[in-house]
Amino acid sequence: MVNTSNPLPAKGIEREELLRTLTSRKNNDANWRQGRSWSLVYYAGDEHTAFLAEVARLFFSENALSPRAFPSLRSLEIEVVAMLIGLLGGGERTVGAMTSGGTESILMAVKAHRDKARSEKPRLAYPEMVVPTTAHPAFLKAASYFDVKAIPVPVGKDFKADSAAMARACNERTILMVASAPSFPQGVLDPIEELSDVACRNGIGLHIDACLGGFFLPFLAKLGYPVPAYDFAVPGVTSISVDLHKYGYAAKGASAILYRNRELLGHQIFVCTDWPGGLYISPNAAGTRSGGPIAAAWATMMSLGEQGYLRLVRETMSLTSTLRAGIEAIPGLYIVGQPIMSVMAIGSEDSCIFAMGDLMEEKGWTLDRQNNPDSLHLVVTPNHRQSINAFLHDLGEASRAVKQGTNTDRSARRATLYGVTENVEYTDKTQDLVERIIEETYATRTAIRN
Ligand SMILES: *Cc1c(COP(=O)(O)O)cnc(C)c1O
Repeated sequence: MVNTSNPLPAKGIEREELLRTLTSRKNNDANWRQGRSWSLVYYAGDEHTAFLAEVARLFFSENALSPRAFPSLRSLEIEVVAMLIGLLGGGERTVGAMTSGGTESILMAVKAHRDKARSEKPRLAYPEMVVPTTAHPAFLKAASYFDVKAIPVPVGKDFKADSAAMARACNERTILMVASAPSFPQGVLDPIEELSDVACRNGIGLHIDACLGGFFLPFLAKLGYPVPAYDFAVPGVTSISVDLHKYGYAAKGASAILYRNRELLGHQIFVCTDWPGGLYISPNAAGTRSGGPIAAAWATMMSLGEQGYLRLVRETMSLTSTLRAGIEAIPGLYIVGQPIMSVMAIGSEDSCIFAMGDLMEEKGWTLDRQNNPDSLHLVVTPNHRQSINAFLHDLGEASRAVKQGTNTDRSARRATLYGVTENVEYTDKTQDLVERIIEETYATRTAIRN
C-alpha cells in the first residue's frame, strides 16, 4: 500500500513486481495496438518498434546537451537535419535543429522570428503574428510564452487559410504568418504560394507547420498525387516544423525545426557567458536531451529509406480511400473539406456526431471530437489495416442508433479535450471549466489506480 504522507517506498520493491504493476496499469489505456485509437500513436509494426527500442537503448544514457562530450549524437542530429532539408526542398543555405516535439519546434520558430524582428526593428514593442484559426494551438502557446500577439484569422469555407483575410490582418507590427501542411483538424493544405506572396510583399516570415505532412507529402507527390508546393521551394517560406515522431515513425520525442538561412537559427540559440558554471549554450528549449530519440530518429530514416516511406504512404492512402468511401456510404455522414492526405474529419448532416462518438467509445474506439464544424477526427496509419472494417461496421450502427433516437440524452453540445478523453459541455464557460479540470488532474496527490 502507498503511504500518502511519504509515498517513496522505504525499501525498494522487486523489479519483477514493478513490471507487473506497470503492465496492469496500462489496462485502461487506449487500445492503439489493435487499431482502435485514431490519434496519438503512429505505428509501423512490431519489428520496426523493436528495432527502435534497441537503438534507443544504445543511447539511453547519453546527453545531447554537450556536443563535445557526445560527438556521436551531434553527427546523428546533423545527418537527420540534412535528410529533412533534402525532403523539404531546402538548399545549400538551409539549416535546422532537432527538438523534442512539434510544440518545441513551433516555439523555437516563433522565438527566432521574434528575436530577428527585435534585432532589425528595436522600436517594435508589440510584435504580432497572423495565424489561421485551424493552426495548431502550439502557436498560441508560443504567443503567450514569447509575448507575440497572435491575430487569429478565420479560415475559408474550404477550411483552408484565407490568404486575402490574412493579408488584411498584416500591419507594421506583423513579424510572421503561419500556414499548415496540412492542418490537424480537417487535414487540408493551406494556400502556401498565395501566403508566400503576402509574406514577401510585407517583408515578414512565413512558417509552414509540416508536423503532420513533412514525412507524408513528399512521398505522396512522388507517388503521383497532386500536391501543391508547400516547402522551401516556395520563396516566402522562412521556416518549417516537421515531426519525426508522427508519420516519420521514429520514437516519441523527436521533431525538427528548419530555417531558410543561418540568421534565423542564430536567433533561436541561447548562450550564457557569465555563469559561474561555465559557458552554457543551448540551441533549443530543453537543457538535457536524451540521446535515445535522436538515435532512433536517425536509425528510422536510415532503415526505412525512401522506399520504406513510399510503401507506408501508399498503404496508408489505400486504407484512407477505403475509409472515405465507407464513411460516405453511410447516409448523412460526410468528410469535412478536402483532406490532402490521411488526416480527416467526419461530419454529420442529420444527426449529432458527438452522440455517435459516445457510442463508438462504448464500443472501444478512441476518437477526438472537434468543433466548427462538429466532427470526429481520424489519423489513419498502416496499423488500421486490421480494424477499418470493424470501424465502418460500428460507425454505421452508431449512426442508425442515433437516428432512431435511442440515446437522445447525449445530444448536448460537447467539446473534447484534445489528447484527454473527457467530455465537457461546450459553452462560454468552457475555458474556465477546462482549466479547473486540468489543474485538478495535475495537482492531485493520489492517482487513480486500476
Ligand atoms: C502534432 C502537431 C503539432 C504538435 O506536435 P507535438 O509533437 O504534439 O508537440 C503541431 N502541429 C501539427 C499540425 C500537429 O499535427
